[in-house]
Amino acid sequence: MILVGVNGYGTIGKRVADAVAAQPDMEVVGVTKTTPDYGAEAAVRRGYDLYAGIDDRVDAFEAAGLGVTGTLSDLLADIDVIVDCCPSGIGEANQSTYDAHGVPAIYQGGEDASVADASFNSRASYEAARGADSLRVVSCNTTGLSRILAPLDEEYGVEKARVTLVRRGGDPSETDRGPINDLVPDPVTLPSHHGPDVGTVLPDVPVDTAALRAPVTAMHTHSLNVTLDTAPSTAAVTELLRDQSRVFMIPEGAGIDGAGALKDYAADVGRPRGDLWENCVWEESVHMEDRDLYLFQNVHQEADVVPENVDAIRALATDMSREESVAQTDESLGIGFDSLLSDGGVGRSQLVADD
Ligand code: NAD
Repeated sequence: MILVGVNGYGTIGKRVADAVAAQPDMEVVGVTKTTPDYGAEAAVRRGYDLYAGIDDRVDAFEAAGLGVTGTLSDLLADIDVIVDCCPSGIGEANQSTYDAHGVPAIYQGGEDASVADASFNSRASYEAARGADSLRVVSCNTTGLSRILAPLDEEYGVEKARVTLVRRGGDPSETDRGPINDLVPDPVTLPSHHGPDVGTVLPDVPVDTAALRAPVTAMHTHSLNVTLDTAPSTAAVTELLRDQSRVFMIPEGAGIDGAGALKDYAADVGRPRGDLWENCVWEESVHMEDRDLYLFQNVHQEADVVPENVDAIRALATDMSREESVAQTDESLGIGFDSLLSDGGVGRSQLVADD
């Protein structure tokens, strides 16, 4: 049994804790919070042992009526792996504490790649993580791109990928983020930093990216143009992507026209928190033009890195192969939508272009 602690029980941390708890070979020893807010109360309700992320906050938790089991140091003394899910930059500040306790750490994509021995994506770089004492699970956008580009590169070779990322302005709980009525190039300099981040897990795949922030909270939308070394048919590429366990091909007849319907579908079929762990690729957007592939996909920023964190724990703490770990994670969580509409259904009507 791999004993796991989660430091930072926020958007990513609470999902990682639930995913770890669902694994037959892992146990959540405890989670940390810095303030006794609704998130801390929910952690207790869900049965997790709560630890104070900052030592002198123990009294604040007690005063609020939430008992804590101890502090971060106490948690580190009892675990095999810590998953740092603190806000960007705090992970790096925590590094010396983890090192002092000799606990292997997994960091998130908001940290610089230099925080860990290796960057990690289950599809692109699981085996490259062998022997590392620390890993950084790459960001939600990088995870979404890596899951598509790794199989394309293996099967056909990628000459060059060009991607436009329309990023959600903030997560649903982040009321202070924006924009609220604009579409903002961010960063305005081109290409954006997202391409080089893909390079941390797929160093031989050239990717240029441009990014904007949009007034939405549900998901990111990616428009991909990938020039391949060969010219497979649209059908062959569609089949390749359909074979990826963490890619959901949205069937033409499903009537799913955007993030709202995708999240609605996820909630309707019983996904916890309406989470979509898979990339969501619109099947009818997949199109080959000579050696150029085009497609649209959506990525649920709160969820897609969660199974990758579970696999990263196994890559750090066990000898399990990528195939075994991914299969175990997918089975435990129920990853892999297979729509009953895959063979047809009522398609949506095309919107008339009026601009
Ligand atoms: P968040 O703000 O939702 O959660 C962070 C949690 O850590 C909060 O509960 C906060 O109270 C707590 N915290 C703050 N300082 C702490 C400390 N010193 N010790 C312990 N806990 C502390 O952030 P998030 O969105 O979950 O992001 C976490 C990491 O995951 C970041 O690196 C981020 O870039 C990355 N990430 C976020 C998303 C996303 O869309 N939210 C997607 C992929 C990766």
